[in-house]
Amino acid sequence: MIIAIDGPAAAGKGTLARRIAAALGLPYLDTGLLYRAVGRRVLDSGADPANPEAATTAARSLTEADFQRTDLRGPEADKAASQVASIPAVRAALLQFQRHYGATIGAVLDGRDIGTIIFPNADVKLFVTASLEARTQRRYAEILGRGEAVSLEDVRADLAARDEADRTRTAAPLVQAADATLLDTSAMDADAAFAKALALVQAKAAPRL
Ligand code: C5P
Repeated sequence: MIIAIDGPAAAGKGTLARRIAAALGLPYLDTGLLYRAVGRRVLDSGADPANPEAATTAARSLTEADFQRTDLRGPEADKAASQVASIPAVRAALLQFQRHYGATIGAVLDGRDIGTIIFPNADVKLFVTASLEARTQRRYAEILGRGEAVSLEDVRADLAARDEADRTRTAAPLVQAADATLLDTSAMDADAAFAKALALVQAKAAPRL
């Protein structure tokens, strides 16, 4: 059972995916973390995350420890992740890991290209989105919750810029798969979004649950 959850930044994909995975007893993979770890390694090396050689070298040498870092969130990591994610060789280096992850007992994966490129035959595909304003408010609250200072305007501008970059890149752009179900969570709280998403998954995957 492969459940693919794609959508723009701060749409609530991660929370939904984690809860769906727990409800169905499946492993959960946050694929954004892979790109974040690559971006962070490139920043550490002093190189530019937009540099294909540096980013590809980092993507090929990721280890478990890279995912345990506590500095994979925040504006700098967001931007670096999006930059390395536009490099085809970086995506190629991370592709097999994602496919293997789901190969044994299945998985819930969230990202940008799960239903289009990584698992085009996924059992269930959700495209989770929300208005820029709703996503801005959620990300703003999340950052303040971490005890960091930020302005609402900066959060909005960063999200809009990252969405634009993710949607317009040539390598695996963010796009709703033709057979994905759209879930707009703008007017939903986390519990309502989860209830709706779980109902969609159960309806789609009924024969396999
Ligand atoms: O989902 P998250 O915000 O953590 O992703 C960080 C960045 O990683 C995204 O802006 C996107 O550029 C990239 N990404 C991607 N493909 C995925 C997951 C994330 O390109 N499957």
